[in-house]
Amino acid sequence: MSDLLQRLRVRGWRMTSQRRVVAEVLDGDHVHLTADEVHARATRRLPEISRATVYNTLGELVSLGEVIEVCTDGRAKRYDPNAHHPHQHLVCSTCGTIRDVHPVRSPLADLPAEERFGFTVSDVVVTYRGLCPSCV
Ligand SMILES: [Zn+2]
Ligand SMILES: [Zn+2]
Repeated sequence: MSDLLQRLRVRGWRMTSQRRVVAEVLDGDHVHLTADEVHARATRRLPEISRATVYNTLGELVSLGEVIEVCTDGRAKRYDPNAHHPHQHLVCSTCGTIRDVHPVRSPLADLPAEERFGFTVSDVVVTYRGLCPSCV
């Protein structure tokens, strides 16, 4: 579990019913929802929740560092609650399914010093693309 709700409780995040629903929708493993998907799911639990509230709450969770934005090109930005365990993504080119994956060593280790051009590299994003078992 991503234990998002637990983390937010520990940091004393002001938990209104609307904010709680957004956090509940995002909690879990391999969760990578678009803002519209979060809104659709939140509406099932709390019909009056507005799109603006969902967007604002997502923005706040991202700035707190409890949710990360995942961009896979050509598709809408996704929100990922697995913010505290460094991971990369496996993306299905057909249906867009995304799984969290953990390479056996840091992708940074594969970039030799002479290829860094003096940069201090702080972050690496690797996307593994292919077809998921249902789309093969
Ligand atoms: Zn697929
Ligand atoms: Zn992820």
